[in-house]
Amino acid sequence: MENKIDILSLSHAELREFIAELGEPKYRADQIYTFLMRGASSFEEMNNIPKKLIEKLNEKAFLATAKQVQKLTSADGTAKYLYEMYDGEKIESVIMRYHYGNTICISSEAGCPMGCAFCASTLSGISRKLLPSEMLSQVIQTQKDIGERIDGIVLMGIGEPLDNYENVIKFLRLVNDEKGLNIGLRHISLSTCGIVPRIYDLAKEEMAITLSISLHAANDETRSALMPVNKKWNIEALLTACADYFAATGRRISFEYTLINGKNDNEEAARELAAVLRKYCKNMPIHVNLIPVNAVKERGFTPSSKDGIKKFVSVLEKNHIVATVRRHLGSDINASCGQLRAKKAEN
Ligand code: SAH
Repeated sequence: MENKIDILSLSHAELREFIAELGEPKYRADQIYTFLMRGASSFEEMNNIPKKLIEKLNEKAFLATAKQVQKLTSADGTAKYLYEMYDGEKIESVIMRYHYGNTICISSEAGCPMGCAFCASTLSGISRKLLPSEMLSQVIQTQKDIGERIDGIVLMGIGEPLDNYENVIKFLRLVNDEKGLNIGLRHISLSTCGIVPRIYDLAKEEMAITLSISLHAANDETRSALMPVNKKWNIEALLTACADYFAATGRRISFEYTLINGKNDNEEAARELAAVLRKYCKNMPIHVNLIPVNAVKERGFTPSSKDGIKKFVSVLEKNHIVATVRRHLGSDINASCGQLRAKKAEN
């Protein structure tokens, strides 16, 4: 695909420019854009575009449409997709059906370089970063598949979004385009393991997205053992960046905390969590999402007991920290990301 234009990464305005350079009128660009937003996987299927222009498009541009290779549907309506990229890379997306609308969880990289100890996505490292078009295409193709509008997006699939910063920002602008999918930034969450300098950058983008921080431990020793990124930017650096993000955007921050049996789930850990959040995030609305760890065979971690979770929650409550235990959508299809991709690589 070298030297070819990644047409699905163009904004509506950029597409008009590109089509004008080919000597074609604006309305042709608008027609092509409509086909793209509806999920075209080839230029040939754009049936009101003249053959000559289709030839030119094939010569100058490529379409990074995500191709569905597998779909698992859960009893609760959650569905997980394995998508293949133009070069054969495979990634995952999950659609969650809530009473208030459809939310998609998308991947930002093929694999992940971050090395978190409990995570399936990082088992074999990273192959490459995804293009803006490849993130957009996950939304478009899933919307096409379910035949309903997607209202919200979480960047919580495979990969570390802030490790693919430029492409993620471009994707956010594309998906928010009024002429395109027009998904509101307020309905988008970005989850990060804590690449601190990029959190400061993100605060300056003036995008009203929700930031979600994968914290998973409240002291540096435990967190560094679970998440190597903590050795570079520790809890203090991370939470200071969060406070800056809130000061700049006014957006609430949510913290993800995976409960792993015997590692980070006793009452002392809950007290520590409440204390660090109190210390660094004093005047900010925060929310803690507790997630019983999904056992990943290669990792040997097991989830906390029901009783252990209850005690953890009650310590947070006593300390006035709002916490919810995440509803386990799609557990029958291994809906947490990385597992399908890993399985495919094994076969
Ligand atoms: N790289 C980003 C986004 C991808 S992971 C990040 O780290 O936030 C999405 C969320 O799932 C993160 O909070 C991650 O820590 C969590 N996660 C990964 N593996 C998990 C597992 N086995 N069980 C439960 N949560 C897991």
